[in-house]
Amino acid sequence: GLSVGFTLGRKPEPRRSERVVLVTGAAGFIGFHAAKQLAEGWGVERVVGIDSFNEYYDVQLKKDRASYLLRIGVEVYRGDVCDGEVLQHLFAKYNFTDVVHMAAQAGVRYSLEDPQAYVSANYECFISLLDSIQKYPAYLVYASSSSVYGKRATVPFSSEEPLKAPGNLYAASKIMNEHLASAYCSQHDLHSIGLRFFTVYGPWGRPDMAAYKFAECIVTGMPVPLFEAGPGEQLKRDFTYIDDIVSGVLSALERTPERCGEAYNLGFGEPLIVEDMLHYLEKELATTAVIDRQPLPPSDMILTFADITISRNVLGFSPKTPTAEGIHRFVKWFRDYYEDRVQWEKKGRSSSRNARLE
Ligand code: NAD
Repeated sequence: GLSVGFTLGRKPEPRRSERVVLVTGAAGFIGFHAAKQLAEGWGVERVVGIDSFNEYYDVQLKKDRASYLLRIGVEVYRGDVCDGEVLQHLFAKYNFTDVVHMAAQAGVRYSLEDPQAYVSANYECFISLLDSIQKYPAYLVYASSSSVYGKRATVPFSSEEPLKAPGNLYAASKIMNEHLASAYCSQHDLHSIGLRFFTVYGPWGRPDMAAYKFAECIVTGMPVPLFEAGPGEQLKRDFTYIDDIVSGVLSALERTPERCGEAYNLGFGEPLIVEDMLHYLEKELATTAVIDRQPLPPSDMILTFADITISRNVLGFSPKTPTAEGIHRFVKWFRDYYEDRVQWEKKGRSSSRNARLE
């Protein structure tokens, strides 16, 4: 017979306090917040992080996120998810119940510059992780992306709709993640949920993304690069606040998948004109931006817009943070972090901080 809490062929469902969770990409933006919330808010038995601290963007920002995690009791390892031996060591040591896989090569435009980074991080490393999970069974929640919908998807984007042509290599690599997860489920009974994140922003955010990049340009007086979609069309993104994303990730951890290849949208559900995001930032930073209008790169979508009906029903997902509030919290962090550390480093030691100390 079946014991309570176990369904044939399904993952066991340990209580929160018994969970041992591996977070990959823990020094990254979303991985950091997920690990933090698992350790602080959820109080799982143990959170272990791994990150390669690659140089795609500001490594010091990754180190600062990792230091924060270490202070709250998360064990963070420097290591590559592609390295089978490293994974073998970690899985054998900790016997994870769950894996939150956020390590990847993110970014759409960079996929034109360095395609191999996407093949390696998003394809090869994902398989290497799946192989470890197959040997040491754990439940997997992994990052997909709104990019999988491409330019020809029906609006709003529904996870029920079959995917159309991917618009760039990054999107293709995320679609491949979903296919691989589904294949490992069919072949090896490995259960997982993919989460299609929509343009995430918030404190500790990525310097290559709009909120941080715009804020940086505003405070340094540099022109803000703003992509123009075309005559009469405005670029829109379904900007989603990090805390809402993390609560979706945690809900996914509590779900028992019912079929192979489950993937859901995590988005705010309301597209915002990107230029309006800039206006929120100008207001919070009390500075007017100089705008440098540029044509939209062909790899980019004009609009992203999440249909979150299914995520609401299946995961209980309900994003709560209005953009004005989200940007307010982002700028509060940005002022401390950027103006204190980055600007100070750029100017050199002779400038503001020393002046203030003297
Ligand atoms: P991020 O770049 O901040 O985090 C990824 C982390 O993974 C980085 O710290 C990087 O050093 C690490 N990493 C990369 N390759 C690795 C490897 N082989 N081994 C170990 N660590 C490795 O990105 P993020 O914004 O936190 O994104 C997390 C996930 O969510 C990614 O899969 C990304 O594609 C996806 N996503 C993000 C957004 C968004 O708006 N931020 C939107 C859609 C999808």
